[in-house]
Amino acid sequence: MTMSVRFAPSPTGRFHLGNLRTAWISHEAARVLGMPWALRFEDIDRPRVVDGALEAQLDDMAALGLVPDAWTLQSRRSSRHFTLFEAARGQGRIYPCLCSRAEVQQALRGIASAPHGAEAIYSGHCRNVGPQEFTRALAAWRGTSIAWRFRADDATGRDDFIVARSDVPAGALRAEGPLVTPGTFVPAYTWACAIDDRDGGHAMLVRAWDLHGALAQQQAVWSWLEASGCLDPAIAEAPRPAVFHTALVTADDGARLEKRTRGVTWPELCGRGWSAREVLQRFAAMFDVAQLQGFTSARVWGEPAASLSLKQLGFSTLQM
Ligand code: GLU
Ligand code: ZN
Repeated sequence: MTMSVRFAPSPTGRFHLGNLRTAWISHEAARVLGMPWALRFEDIDRPRVVDGALEAQLDDMAALGLVPDAWTLQSRRSSRHFTLFEAARGQGRIYPCLCSRAEVQQALRGIASAPHGAEAIYSGHCRNVGPQEFTRALAAWRGTSIAWRFRADDATGRDDFIVARSDVPAGALRAEGPLVTPGTFVPAYTWACAIDDRDGGHAMLVRAWDLHGALAQQQAVWSWLEASGCLDPAIAEAPRPAVFHTALVTADDGARLEKRTRGVTWPELCGRGWSAREVLQRFAAMFDVAQLQGFTSARVWGEPAASLSLKQLGFSTLQM
């Protein structure tokens, strides 16, 4: 099996300099480790996916000489996400949560996206609801999306986290028929990403520091997967991927770059006379590739700085 280094962008807009820099670092990692550079476009967050963004991201990376050896779409893996969900549910690791508290609804809204803030602590209420109590609760329930929670290892249920939601059509007879089908199943970022990362045969995952908070939940999913018997035998024998975190790139006032931030995309840089070589030189001047070589499987580490401003990266003249 050929191990790879993976980068997993969401096709929700044009890349900014921070995205391009993480792409470049993951490409460097593949180069120094002598492995293929594999991309997975995380296109399951339908409302946020933008038409043409994937092609634009590939073009912008190519302009900097970053051409993947392989790329795939996360949406192609939905039957795998559902099959494993059903397997974990069958083993009692996943249960439905009908709590209608505001924070659950809030947490549900963005579940298919990478989280940028932690989910509110859960009460643990639905963890030990028996079948009869559940049927009664369902009959009285007025929500439209059921949250599905994964049992964490703590005894209280307070760390149980959402791995999917299933939409319930208005007026459906909720006590009859399956609560979740492939058509109503929406995996959470944590679930889809953990599965794809472990199935993918990756030696190293490269992502920005802001996703570090998602790792503990993903590792809990990995532990279940490894014990479940659901992994391909060749993958089950391979060690867990290492995870390298890159600095978040901010404006000089510390504000995060967003895909909508003006002036920091490749076409905008180009329009101001920057060449690909100049951009790559700035990246290389502020990143010590040697830190990628302390690579061991399952290692979790990253750049010493959690964030770097455009000015620190040598792009201060860019701000509008
Ligand atoms: N698709 C996620 C994002 O662009 C990153 C996922 C990851 O690298 O784990 O925010
Ligand atoms: Zn609940």
